[in-house]
Amino acid sequence: MALVSIILVITVGGYLLHNIVLVRVGHLDRSIEKIKENDYHLDLHDESADEIGRLSRSFVELATVIQKNRETLEDEVYERTRELVVARDEAKQAAEQIHNLAFFDPLTNLPNRRLLLDRIQHALLSSIRVDKFGVILMLDLDHFKNINDTMGHDAGDVLLVEASRRLLASVRAEDTVSRLGGDEFVVLVEDAGTNLESAANHGERIAEKIRAAIAVPYHLEADESAHQTTVSIGLTLFKGNDVSPEVLLKQADVALYQAKTAGRNTIKFFNTTMQAEIDGRYRLEIELRTALKNNEFRLYYQPQIDHHGHVVGAEALIRWDCPNRGGVTPNEFIPNAEETGLIVELGRWVLETACAQLRLWAGDARTAHLSIAVNVSSRQFLQTDFVDVVTNCVDGNGIVASRLKLELTESVFLHNIDFVVEQMKCLADRGIRFSLDDFGTGYSSLTYLKKLPLSQVKIDQSFVRDLMIDPNDEAIVKAVIVLGQSLGLDVIAEGVETNDQFSYLRQNGCFLYQGYLFGKPVPIEQWDQLLSAEAFEI
Ligand code: C2E
Ligand code: MG
Ligand code: MG
Repeated sequence: MALVSIILVITVGGYLLHNIVLVRVGHLDRSIEKIKENDYHLDLHDESADEIGRLSRSFVELATVIQKNRETLEDEVYERTRELVVARDEAKQAAEQIHNLAFFDPLTNLPNRRLLLDRIQHALLSSIRVDKFGVILMLDLDHFKNINDTMGHDAGDVLLVEASRRLLASVRAEDTVSRLGGDEFVVLVEDAGTNLESAANHGERIAEKIRAAIAVPYHLEADESAHQTTVSIGLTLFKGNDVSPEVLLKQADVALYQAKTAGRNTIKFFNTTMQAEIDGRYRLEIELRTALKNNEFRLYYQPQIDHHGHVVGAEALIRWDCPNRGGVTPNEFIPNAEETGLIVELGRWVLETACAQLRLWAGDARTAHLSIAVNVSSRQFLQTDFVDVVTNCVDGNGIVASRLKLELTESVFLHNIDFVVEQMKCLADRGIRFSLDDFGTGYSSLTYLKKLPLSQVKIDQSFVRDLMIDPNDEAIVKAVIVLGQSLGLDVIAEGVETNDQFSYLRQNGCFLYQGYLFGKPVPIEQWDQLLSAEAFEI
């Protein structure tokens, strides 16, 4: 009995220990684990008045306090971080602003004098490394003060901003356009050319481009009429670092001063010899324009002979009888006419004169079979109306198209070859013939020769000159003759001066000739005399 009572007490005691103590302590234990994992949603509802109940409630209170504190802390950290980010961005902005103020002009955002000097310093070093000249252009808007005085500073600012935009658009992205202050700007151009002359040309071209860009009218105020301004430009060139950036700016400034005193809207070089060259070219251009108006050009004709000694035609060569300069050779003025575009008008005059001569020849039995070769510059040939100009000339004079031969040089193939071929084909379809002048001196590829509707190649006189003494020239002449024959083209040799040259050419299969041996270029009045001889003694 006593044993049964003991077992009962132990069983009941065990049950009570499990339910009243162990289960509740287990809940507490799990709650501790949850908090360790930052989970504060505790499932602990022990309302008992005993020790464990009180402990559980205190534990829940403690957990709530910890959770609140933690949330407050997180909010504070977030807020502080945000403040730090803002402070950092502001510091960055301030640093950028300081940098901008130190190196850029606030009105136009262009580099200022300080940054420009730094860029020039780099450019000087780089000019040695790449062995190329650079150019500095200093420019100043003409009479800018008047705009500020009459229209106000706001209008002046609008003009400066627009002018700086146009300057940027006139140069390459890698060039530097800077504003020194007021209406004074400096453009730094690197890699302008390997020699002084080409760099000067490059600089002058940029200066002209800038002059044209600045001259476009400005709209400074709404509803105001357009305003126009011009610019004076001083240039200096550099290579190597024996001159400092400051000295270079001084040089450009001196040139700018000269441009201003020369009447503004002008370009001046610091270097006097270069300036003299530019002035000379400019004077020549003006005189050429006058010469065109005053009919100072004449066409000379040089005979072209076949291997029987018969004259088969002539090359028309332009001459300029200038009242100031006397006779000027084409080599002295054609390059200028090409550069300025005047060649288009000049070339048209040559074409018209030559076609008029062919018309006269057509009416005379002694000359009706003769052809005339006219030199055509690439720039002239590339005009979109060139085909029309030529066909109008031919039709207008009622001449046989095949009597007109156009001499092109290989330089024309450096341009849009498809367009060149198209132009040539249009004219060749009309019966006009083509000769490739100065052959061997240029860039001809054999592919072009095959592609083009040529009827003749002209061996350049430089190969003919030394034909009898230089084996290389001899080899070239032979090769050109063979090439011409294999492509079915006539071959004509120019610059034939001696009987030896002539005999050699004839023996080697070249059957057309032009040169002093047969006659120099002469005015048309002397041509009759030339024709009266039945044939050249050969
Ligand atoms: P080009 O077309 O190669 O003309 C041949 C040049 O050689 C001519 O010089 C001619 O007078 C010269 N010449 C002819 N035979 C001999 C000779 O036996 N010995 C020497 N030493 N020279 C000879 P020119 O008349 O001074 O013309 C020079 C260049 O000017 C021409 O070379 C041509 O490229 C250009 N040219 C001439 N007239 C015109 C023209 O109307 N339009 C164009 N675009 N260019 C022209
Ligand atoms: Mg020629
Ligand atoms: Mg030639």
